[in-house]
Amino acid sequence: MDNAKAAPSRSGNPIRSVVIVGGGTAGWMTATLMAKRLEGLDVQITLVESSAIRTIGVGEATTPAIRDYFREAGLDEAAVMKASKATIKLGIAFDGWAGEGRRFFHPFGLYGTPSNGVAFHQYWLKMRAGGDLRPIEDYCLATQLAYANRILPPPRPAPDYAFFDWAVHFDAGLYAQYLHKIATARGVQHVDARVRSVALDPQTGHIASIDTIEAGVIAGDLFVDCSGFRALLLGEALREPFVEWTHLLPCDRAVAIPCAHAADGAFEPYTRSTALAAGWQWRIPLQHRVGNGYVYCSGHISDDEAVATLTKRLEGEALAEPNLIRFRTGHRRHVWSGNCVAIGLAAGFLEPLESTSITLIHSGIERLLQLFPDRDFDPALAMDYNRITTLEYERVRDFLLLHYWGNRREDEPFWRACKTATLPDMLAHKIRMFTTRGRMVRYEWDSFQDPSWLSMFAGLGLLPEKWDPVADFFTSDQIAGAFDRIREKIVDGVAGAMSHRDHVAAHYSAT
Ligand SMILES: Cc1cc2nc3c(=O)[nH]c(=O)nc-3n(C[C@H](O)[C@H](O)[C@H](O)COP(=O)(O)OP(=O)(O)OC[C@H]3O[C@@H](n4cnc5c(N)ncnc54)[C@H](O)[C@@H]3O)c2cc1C
Repeated sequence: MDNAKAAPSRSGNPIRSVVIVGGGTAGWMTATLMAKRLEGLDVQITLVESSAIRTIGVGEATTPAIRDYFREAGLDEAAVMKASKATIKLGIAFDGWAGEGRRFFHPFGLYGTPSNGVAFHQYWLKMRAGGDLRPIEDYCLATQLAYANRILPPPRPAPDYAFFDWAVHFDAGLYAQYLHKIATARGVQHVDARVRSVALDPQTGHIASIDTIEAGVIAGDLFVDCSGFRALLLGEALREPFVEWTHLLPCDRAVAIPCAHAADGAFEPYTRSTALAAGWQWRIPLQHRVGNGYVYCSGHISDDEAVATLTKRLEGEALAEPNLIRFRTGHRRHVWSGNCVAIGLAAGFLEPLESTSITLIHSGIERLLQLFPDRDFDPALAMDYNRITTLEYERVRDFLLLHYWGNRREDEPFWRACKTATLPDMLAHKIRMFTTRGRMVRYEWDSFQDPSWLSMFAGLGLLPEKWDPVADFFTSDQIAGAFDRIREKIVDGVAGAMSHRDHVAAHYSAT
């Protein structure tokens, strides 16, 4: 091989213009981060959106990765929180999923401490077998803080039981407005115009330009489709097929109604997910209102009944008319095709049970920037992008599927049907390994780590038949002593924490 020829060179054909279509959460997050990373590289970023076409109007709960986005995008966390009337999210409380009247919690934190190379939950299983039926949640500071509606700055360094992270609940409309200001200050050109057609290059099949009603033709090198469920570029113009997963995750509609805080209502630092007859309800407390929605399966309840159910369950005065949304679960087969990459709802959708869409938006933008093409659009880049995106979607799908498949509701046809889903092989293997010996199988590109899976397994009562024999290294008395100490420290930690309401008022209050 001729080494001189193999030496890398600068691209002679760099991207000079990026056109983002759509100004929802996906469009503005893409524009803001791109403008920062590509600063000084002579790339013009243009965001085209139509103020006459509304954004989806939901998407208020996140995962802790949102704060990585704030950092990466050079945003001041407190300033974004203030601007978007945000609150803290320590995890999700699942009400009724493990049976009526029962609750468990998925924290953004760890449980107990591992010892002698053995995971904490193995000792917990051993103690259970000996009659100590305390829930694993007693060994997780994040969960106990959440239940007490309190918050601490996450201690660092911390033993596992005290280690946690936090995410954000925010007003998605205000968040997009905030990003709009930052992105345009960074040089992103904003065009308010409705796209009416897309022109393809007859030779390459790539997108050459978009034609808009108000601003005429806009050409570009790279197009980012953030146009929402319609997927104007990737779906309508490039006809990229949709891989549908409704047979695995059957909910296909939602109704959202924001309401006022009740005078005596709890100001919870977590999302509440309550199982209802044909799906589940979210409750997301923001500073100025509470977001509510019923995600349901249209085969098991009518829209009218879903609206009536949600309306009855509101804890304060409704602040808007019901917003009815239809969706399909799944993703575009190739999320990157030619010179077009879809991000956000245009790329795919997994229902909001674990608030993963905005996380997937962030990872999509990061991946695009890591594989940023030149105008030759080497197909290898798209291939790797699509490979990873598919894996990421499948892993989230499987985590959500575990929630449904593992439900403990006996009486409703919807929930009984969920238990009969045929599990994808990788999920079936993961469940089998956990329920035999408590072994956690990890897969590449899983957004959820062992403690998240553990919270679901334990919460739904999918417990192993045996514990790891190495856990017998310690006697039950030794373990009981260590467990007592962990619980005491957690109780002390919660006692010293601030109420969520006071914390938000002190640090993020918009007034
Ligand atoms: C019921 C439900 C609940 C959800 N809850 C959560 C949650 O809690 N957490 C989470 O992370 N995610 C959630 N999501 C997902 C989240 O709402 C979206 O991922 C996020 O809002 C991004 O949407 P988007 O920007 O892709 O699309 P949209 O918000 O739909 O924006 C599309 C944009 O494209 C523009 N557009 C469309 N057509 C044209 C045209 N012809 N010309 C010009 N512009 C056009 C529109 O004007 C708009 O600006 C939820 C989704 C649903 C359906």
